[in-house]
Amino acid sequence: MSDSVDEAYFENDSYIPLHTGEDSSKYLYALNPPVFLTSLHTFDNMEEYQHNPNGAFVYGRYGNPNEKIVEEKIAALEHGKRAFLYPSGMGAASAAIMAVCKAGSHVVCVHNAYGCVGTFLEEYCKPDLNMDVTFVHGWSTDEIRDAIRDNTALIILESPGTATFSLVDLEAVSKIAKEKGIVTYIDNTYCSPIFQKPLTMGIDIVMHSATKYLGGHSDILGGVLVTSDDRLIERLKTLKTLFGGIMGPMEAWLLMRGLRTLPVRMKAHEAIALKVAQELEKDPHVKKVYYPGLPSHPQYELVKKQQSGSSGLLSFELNATTEEAVKVVEHMKVFKLGPSWGGFESLIVMPLWGKTDEYAAWYGASRGLIRIHCGLEGADVLLADLKQAFALLDE
Ligand code: PLP
Repeated sequence: MSDSVDEAYFENDSYIPLHTGEDSSKYLYALNPPVFLTSLHTFDNMEEYQHNPNGAFVYGRYGNPNEKIVEEKIAALEHGKRAFLYPSGMGAASAAIMAVCKAGSHVVCVHNAYGCVGTFLEEYCKPDLNMDVTFVHGWSTDEIRDAIRDNTALIILESPGTATFSLVDLEAVSKIAKEKGIVTYIDNTYCSPIFQKPLTMGIDIVMHSATKYLGGHSDILGGVLVTSDDRLIERLKTLKTLFGGIMGPMEAWLLMRGLRTLPVRMKAHEAIALKVAQELEKDPHVKKVYYPGLPSHPQYELVKKQQSGSSGLLSFELNATTEEAVKVVEHMKVFKLGPSWGGFESLIVMPLWGKTDEYAAWYGASRGLIRIHCGLEGADVLLADLKQAFALLDE
């Protein structure tokens, strides 16, 4: 390595996915690490096996080399001390809740957290662990402060949320939580570490569904938790081994390959989504656009303070009935109708369509809300697809 290369470059978001955590001398100087398809490692003698002096890999459930490479990259990207991979985003989310809470704990959770997190709290934690949960909008810090009780163990945030993209002031909430000894957790899937680094704003645990941008190719499920807190690191490490929720070597290798292009993909998704959002705002068929990258976003000042960018996901409401919105969605050619997001491809869905009007109102939206993920096909292609479908409304 040239002496003239600035040391800071090694902590750069472009450098980390390419090289951090890899040591080609350990795998015959192959440029890419192999997939370590083994469930166990062997030793020369009992002493080494039992006491494992060099931190060697032992048994697959305690960790595998592919998993470790990816954990080091994601920890570095999030400016955290340690990352833990899980077989899905929900595996990561439920592991964090179980690591922080105990029977009788109270949780404050933003109402627009990913749906299964709310369901896990409501349908498992409350009845089976005698826990309690207060759902808040998260729009004002006072609302979160008022929801805190003596037994509050955890504050669950998602910012921006992924239906109407409202934000939570991360520095303000983490300050209140620290004063009261409460652990803060954020789902950072929307921004990815490229556009938001919550640990640097005082948040204790960052979670991602790696199924989305980190993987980036819609070919794996995965989840990750990142923290710099030594007590949480020990607790997560122990529980991960005991619950057995590890990521297999093949998925970890694919995740590593996805990460290599994360910075360029995120910037491309952002550029495409911003152009689509700006054009949608001008279109007479569109009533309202929800995108954190637009100056019309009601929390735009906060967006600029805590995010360095916005990703490819955005929502809008049409000047049309819910039934007409369904017809528009079903008429797309390039956008595929389906769940998930964060891959290379464009997707469309109506996230509140199956809910009640009251539930949609919680989001400040209607059942006709349309969410699109802007993939990498190009803004002009996506806009042409949207316009040909909007033409249905003129018939
Ligand atoms: N968080 C967000 C914002 C999501 O959209 C999802 C899944 O869609 C999850 C978490 C859950 O991740 P997974 O499906 O990988 O379990």
